[in-house]
Amino acid sequence: MNENLYALLARAFPTDPDAPCLILPDGRRVSYGELESQSARYAGLLVAAGIKPGDRVAAQVEKSPEALYLYLGCLRAGGVFLPLNPAYQRGEVEYFLGDARPGLFVCRPEKLEEAQELAWAARVPLVHDLGERGEGSLAAKAAEMPEIFATAESAGSDLAAILYTSGTTGRSKGAMLTHRNLAANALVLHQYWGFRPGDVLLHMLPIFHVHGLFVATHCALLNGSPMLFEPKFDPQRALQLMRDATVFMGVPTYYARLLQEKGLTREAVAHMRLFISGSAPLLPETFDEFRARTGQVLLERYGMTEGGMFTSNPPEAERRVGTVGFPLPGTEVRVVGEGDAPLPAGEIGHIQVRGDNVFVGYWQMPEKTREEFTPDGFFRTGDMGRFDADGYLAIIGRDKDLIITGGLNVYPKEIEEAIDALPGVAESAVIGLPHLDFGEAVTAVVVRGREGAGLSAEGIIAALKGQIAGFKVPKAVHFADDLPRNAMGKVQKNLLRQRFAR
Ligand code: AMP
Repeated sequence: MNENLYALLARAFPTDPDAPCLILPDGRRVSYGELESQSARYAGLLVAAGIKPGDRVAAQVEKSPEALYLYLGCLRAGGVFLPLNPAYQRGEVEYFLGDARPGLFVCRPEKLEEAQELAWAARVPLVHDLGERGEGSLAAKAAEMPEIFATAESAGSDLAAILYTSGTTGRSKGAMLTHRNLAANALVLHQYWGFRPGDVLLHMLPIFHVHGLFVATHCALLNGSPMLFEPKFDPQRALQLMRDATVFMGVPTYYARLLQEKGLTREAVAHMRLFISGSAPLLPETFDEFRARTGQVLLERYGMTEGGMFTSNPPEAERRVGTVGFPLPGTEVRVVGEGDAPLPAGEIGHIQVRGDNVFVGYWQMPEKTREEFTPDGFFRTGDMGRFDADGYLAIIGRDKDLIITGGLNVYPKEIEEAIDALPGVAESAVIGLPHLDFGEAVTAVVVRGREGAGLSAEGIIAALKGQIAGFKVPKAVHFADDLPRNAMGKVQKNLLRQRFAR
């Protein structure tokens, strides 16, 4: 059987070609039949443009139905899709094009000139533009292509996409994902989360990232479900649309922002059956407050660009706050210490994963790839975690964020939780800063909450001294109006380290 991911998805499409696939903000509907014919046109265009199986197709475009046709068309043509965050600036795009050498670069209309310059310098042979309303040369050319296309025969091991890691530290690396990687994760998630007839996905995530492009979209397509396909997250609009939707996927900041809406009530979400959170840690307060306001229990899961989802809280059993649940079927997850030796429950160590969903390596970085896999084929995620006695995994932080002070390990998450529990604190981030005596000094950056006017650095330090070991207590506390976050809601600790390092 053809292992091309598109072929797998298409086998699950509804038999009625008029069944709705995308429902757009202006009420326009794109049927499954149209998705099939549009993706055929884009696939045809790519082949006509000289894209051969294995060639990369880079796209730095806004979210739109056409952007989705391009992704699916690329799969169908056997190309390797390379989505780029529209927030990336010239220097970053220059790096991605030079590194990935795509056969086509699709850019936004307002960036056409710059894109052509960069493409020329990186020897990328072709540039098209695509705007958020479907304007530009790409869609115009696609419209001239036939609406039938025989999806390329792919092996499971053929590359389907390269996603550059969002990289809160260091240079972005291109994670190579195969048709098998994406298919394995899509099938598992669709089943584990209990997708069923009648489901409608509210899709407000960006589609340059694993969360919105793969997790959300593949689940809906495998279910033959409609997606309420919105250009971006907007809490008020979300509440309106939840009256017609059943499943929502978001990053924790989406939930925090929904909680700021008076309209978030039990009635407003009565039609919804599942709220999924991930890509960054969900604060227990958000989890608790969401349940109190809506009666709905957020389902937190954990994964990354390099393999999609690894663990999830169970839909049908206890969703344990502060944890990311159990390893998904088909994904082995272990927590290890020195020498990659697995640790017993309760101990903190490095999280490693293995399974069909786990990527095959970093683009043109064989050395780096070798370093990141163990001899027995587990990928070193770079996350620290701990299994509890019942098998729920908790994420403790990134190993790069681990602070070593006076030779002792400090996990920022533990200190952040203690600070966040103090009255008047909205949130906090704990970082290690270079220190002559200690190597690194535990340092806290605190955002005041509504009743936080009276908070002082001395007060916080004094309060912590009674609760946690002295070496873990921050040597300094700084206040900030907010914490810098990337597009997926992750706190950018590298920026905090730069800002507060003396
Ligand atoms: P990305 O590749 O951009 O999806 O980022 C993956 C990283 O996000 C993981 O390695 C984790 O550090 C973090 N992450 C994802 N989901 C969660 C979660 N539920 N809780 C805590 N961290 C998470």
